Amino acid sequence: MIDPKVKEVVLAVVDSLKDDLVQLVCDTVKIPSVNPTFPGVVYEEALGGETKVAEFLKPLLEDIGLKTDMWEKEKGRANLVGVYKGTGDGKSLIFNGHTDVVPPGPEEEWTKAEPWSGKIADGKIWGRGACDMKGGDVAAIIALKALLNAGYKPKGDVIIEDVVGEEMMNTEAGTGATIERGYKADAAIVVEPSGPPYRLGLIPASPGVFYMVVTIKGKAVHASMRDELIRPGGGGAKIGVSSIDKAMIIYQGLRKLEEEWGQTKSHPMFTRPGHFTLHPGVITGGPSGAFVISNESKIEYAIWHAPSDSEEQVKKEVEEQISLFAQTDPWLREHPPKIEWLLWWPPYDVPVDAPICKAVATAYESAMEEPVKYYGFAAVDDAAFLNRAGIPAITIGPGDLRVAHAANEYVEIAELVDAAKIYALSIVEWCGVQRSRK
Ligand SMILES: [Zn+2]
Repeated sequence: MIDPKVKEVVLAVVDSLKDDLVQLVCDTVKIPSVNPTFPGVVYEEALGGETKVAEFLKPLLEDIGLKTDMWEKEKGRANLVGVYKGTGDGKSLIFNGHTDVVPPGPEEEWTKAEPWSGKIADGKIWGRGACDMKGGDVAAIIALKALLNAGYKPKGDVIIEDVVGEEMMNTEAGTGATIERGYKADAAIVVEPSGPPYRLGLIPASPGVFYMVVTIKGKAVHASMRDELIRPGGGGAKIGVSSIDKAMIIYQGLRKLEEEWGQTKSHPMFTRPGHFTLHPGVITGGPSGAFVISNESKIEYAIWHAPSDSEEQVKKEVEEQISLFAQTDPWLREHPPKIEWLLWWPPYDVPVDAPICKAVATAYESAMEEPVKYYGFAAVDDAAFLNRAGIPAITIGPGDLRVAHAANEYVEIAELVDAAKIYALSIVEWCGVQRSRK
């Protein structure tokens, strides 16, 4: 329970800082900070945007009394961490957010505002990164500033992290680098957008996601020989084999597994069944075009799995299904598909009765005067890496993933203010506070 007097004063100061909050979000949106490793982006051209955001935020942190540390784990990509030293005898708390954004995509689709405009209209701030996640980054800073302006100092340390590379899981350069550098706390709040389905929900779990590529070999021959390959009495595999035809067998196998997952894979934080999927994003064949029987096919998958399933278990299920379907075909039996596990973003799963969930729920209910809503994150975020480093981390932040990574991205101003209120009271509840003046 948060002292009503503390709540009243702190929330009033957050309200009074609304114009600052809005201005700072606009200013950060105006700094293009596209992740340089994003597919289709020229690394050298995009490099340095993340650092510019860190350079912009650094004096803001220093002005409110944080000791800052800016460093590059990867050249040209600076992380920023600010530490507000608590008065002692309180639990420490990290606010973690990323400074990189995804590319704006086709300019002509931005009908509401230019992607780097930070335009204010209809109670919203528009532009790439407004929602994912410069809004959250700034709201965390304003939350601490409001608490201090209100005359309260946190007992535990408050650590604000603005990291690079989240959008492409460059965790070694970003959040991973903060852990390596020794930044730890008793808990963390990742300020990624909470929606959907609700605004500012408390997210104690996320799926894991694999990037997997399966390669299926064929045997090239003149395309006019296709009847030999597919009609009874033809020469069959002695003449040629279409890798595309064979890839469809594997596609159907994994599609069937996806249907099974829809029935069998569940988690209490994902109340709608069927969130966990095997998504084929790219299917290729060729490489020589329509007049040559395709020699090699690849299917690239994003595999979203339940937080309770281990890395090994998911790999085993997928590999067994591919093998099972390969066994149904003489060519694939002789030429088994090659499976490459290129990337794994781990899930996280914090119990809802964990102390950090309870503290943030108390803060939410105090600030919003309604019950908090818990649910699983649709996507993945850096809370996974913080949890794996032993820091209990949950996600709660302004914005909605349905407008993130899309044209006409925006964040609601009222939601930014609410987020800052929830963060400020989370510090009160988790770190404890001490009156700093009369
Ligand atoms: Zn994000």
